Amino acid sequence: MAQYTKVVPGSTHGELEAKPLITDPDDPLAPVALRSPQRPKRSELVSQGPLEKAYLFWIVGASCDGCTIAISGATHPRVEDLLTGRVPGLPRIELVHTVLSVESGPEWTENLRLAAEGRLDAPYLIFWEGSIMDETVSGEYGYWMGLGEDRADGRQITSLEWLDRLAPGAAAVLSIGTCACWGGIPAAAGNPTNAMGVMDHLGKDYRSALGLPVINIPGCSPVGDNITETAAAALLFLNGLAPLPEFDELGRPAWLFTETVHRHCPRAGYYEEGVFAHSYGDKECLVELGCWGPIVQCNIAERGIVDGHGGCMNMGGICIGCTMPGFPDKFSPIYERPPGALLSTNTNRVMGGFIRRMRQLSQTDKMRSARWHDSRDLPSGWGRYKTQPVGAERLIHRLYSRKQHSHEGGR
Ligand code: SF4
Ligand code: SF4
Repeated sequence: MAQYTKVVPGSTHGELEAKPLITDPDDPLAPVALRSPQRPKRSELVSQGPLEKAYLFWIVGASCDGCTIAISGATHPRVEDLLTGRVPGLPRIELVHTVLSVESGPEWTENLRLAAEGRLDAPYLIFWEGSIMDETVSGEYGYWMGLGEDRADGRQITSLEWLDRLAPGAAAVLSIGTCACWGGIPAAAGNPTNAMGVMDHLGKDYRSALGLPVINIPGCSPVGDNITETAAAALLFLNGLAPLPEFDELGRPAWLFTETVHRHCPRAGYYEEGVFAHSYGDKECLVELGCWGPIVQCNIAERGIVDGHGGCMNMGGICIGCTMPGFPDKFSPIYERPPGALLSTNTNRVMGGFIRRMRQLSQTDKMRSARWHDSRDLPSGWGRYKTQPVGAERLIHRLYSRKQHSHEGGR
């Protein structure tokens, strides 16, 4: 770990020394770690477990801020409810975020310093967004990810140095998004910054203060609910109100990332019947347009992107494998049919095509009421359907019905 911790001699800013740090806890621009101890306690009705609150440090590496946007759309639970302590059993969250915090500059980094020195009045979690860029290749005086200056000597502190200082004392470290989990787009072929995931940097022997390895919530960007739900599960555990939830061998919440996209895709029925879209906007399965859903582990098809709505194939887009450790290189060229799809689609064309025709046949019978069946008539002015099956079709219906009702003695 130490090889990536860079102490960068930056320019000393006289302004830092001239401007005293705001430390009045009644000042809304003071570090939240100083303001928070003054806040009134929550009602006993909501507060359960030993923890009244927990700090959440959202630290950013090579990121597009998409994960921040994603979590702001979470609804189960909502960020606002976590911040105001309205979720029973969960401690109130004091958020220290690079964009969303009220305080900024030295007052913002003061929170991190107090945490690193063990001077917070509550446990803290680290949420890391973006990939980690290797500061050992950033040049002697340069850096990739700066996050505040040391007030004592004006030295530039990198995000990575903060991670290394804070990770050992954190209750849990959560990698938010594919870049933070596995390296993501900044770690694609070429990779001039030697970008990597948090797990790559901290190593497999890393354990948080509560004994947890790094927790990974992949996605580019992840489903917001996946972030807040996992955070809530970890906080319930932290509060002693629930067991540690199950994580898979890659540190992903097992209940969110075990199934493939394909198994819950609204278009999976078309795939099974061998009917495929030819262009975007078609309603059928998108595999021939480049969808990797059959092998990708992601829950967006059933969960949606915001409050159950949206999500890739729900909105007509293919799965490009953005949750997977091999993304993006192993899923390129994007928007071309995966080679393996040739076998499965052609097999399904034959088998699924036959099954589809059998189902259509059965459907024509089930679309007639008993009255219409007996009268051999369809009293609809629209009149688009044949009133009665004839010939072989009729014989098949009769045999099918006899088999279906054989134990009832019916027709
Ligand atoms: S669109 Fe993709 S995920 Fe959905 S059924 Fe087709 S291959 Fe599977
Ligand atoms: S369906 Fe595929 S592209 Fe869409 S979020 Fe999930 S893994 Fe990413």
